[in-house]
Amino acid sequence: MWILIICYEIDGAVAILKILKYPEPILKKISIPVKNVTGETVRLIQDMVETMYAAPGVGLAAPQVGALQRIIVLDIDYENPGRNLIKLINPVIRHAEGEVIWEEGCLSVADFTAEVKRAERVEVVGLNEKEQEVKVAGEGLLAVALQHEIDHLDGKLFIDRISRLKRELYTRRLKKMLRSGKPRPESPGLMI
Ligand code: ZN
Repeated sequence: MWILIICYEIDGAVAILKILKYPEPILKKISIPVKNVTGETVRLIQDMVETMYAAPGVGLAAPQVGALQRIIVLDIDYENPGRNLIKLINPVIRHAEGEVIWEEGCLSVADFTAEVKRAERVEVVGLNEKEQEVKVAGEGLLAVALQHEIDHLDGKLFIDRISRLKRELYTRRLKKMLRSGKPRPESPGLMI
């Protein structure tokens, strides 16, 4: 009987996962759609949520924690964690309109932010943990974060959406940082 209780506790526990950082090659890979939502999928989503809050960040995609599955979590209401938590399996942008330039940072890109052009409003459909279709419509930061996270599922980072010159300057600086062996500082501001 007590063995069951222990198992339950282990199953109920959440874990903070390691967030992969550029230039980790996994971040460049295309994630595959989730076919069946299993207990493992639900557990991964829970761990992703905990990892996002702990980072802290407003969004996280499964490949950032090494799972090449089409899953994202977001919570842009960082003052009230959990109240507006979004968890999406196999998210797809159904509609996009307008244009906005947003200063983006990423939990997987150390010590760098840059202005990125995105759609101002998007409508995204995906599945929840019960495999029911859900729709999320957003503008501003929510729209930016949704596009940023879905990009991760396609192996794209926000630095792939800036000019080559800016990207090369950053990669050179990062190489220097890595060579110096100093711990990489985290980027300031909102991490998506
Ligand atoms: Zn990111």
